[in-house]
Amino acid sequence: MERTELIYCPFFLEQKELKPHDIALIEGCISKEEQIEELKLIRKNAKKVYAIGSCAAFGGILNLSNKLNGEPISNYIDINGIIPGCPPPEKLLGNCLIRLIENKEIQLPEKNMCATCPLRETMEIKSDKTINHSFSIPNEALNRDDSQECFLNKGILCLGPITRDGCEHVCIKQGVPCEGCMGPISKDFTSNMVNFLGLFNISESFKNYKEIFYRFSKPKFREA
Ligand code: SF4
Ligand code: SF4
Repeated sequence: MERTELIYCPFFLEQKELKPHDIALIEGCISKEEQIEELKLIRKNAKKVYAIGSCAAFGGILNLSNKLNGEPISNYIDINGIIPGCPPPEKLLGNCLIRLIENKEIQLPEKNMCATCPLRETMEIKSDKTINHSFSIPNEALNRDDSQECFLNKGILCLGPITRDGCEHVCIKQGVPCEGCMGPISKDFTSNMVNFLGLFNISESFKNYKEIFYRFSKPKFREA
């Protein structure tokens, strides 16, 4: 904070006018028409723009709503990068902010979650496995006991294989599988997901859980 000057932050600063500045960090998805104008104004005044959190980066959890649509800010303006996560992991966010203050580009992990997962050694992917989503699994079947092993071995969906590393496995350490809030390790979450699920048999109850495709990322569909 000593090395920066915060010039605009509607949550806790009174400044109403947006002046030219070096770095804009934008949180939240775009869900209303008037936000697009404000977004463009920020882009015009900022040398660099970053999307902070999975809503700004991918559209986010608002896409589970039947009424509203959450668009990533990059659908409307050019951005210089994202700092993903729901919320962004504090260590990753801190490191990214320090790099930005030092006028360096941010660096995100380029591995998937499984690469550093504490349960990695136990992982045995078997293609005849039937996979369930975690909501249909009783609590006691999740990793809440001492015999912790990779969720996929137990037939529970874990999105670690297609999710960017960097959150220090907060959910997995709490005994629940990863749902992908750090976003895809490569560009398109939806096609990664389809390819990944193609490795397994899918349980009947899971077939109705369409929301997993857009829990954190708005899917991109191509025009036919
Ligand atoms: S699938 Fe999930 S539990 Fe298994 S190694 Fe990957 S991140 Fe860990
Ligand atoms: S384990 Fe998955 S869902 Fe949980 S914080 Fe990490 S990336 Fe997000």
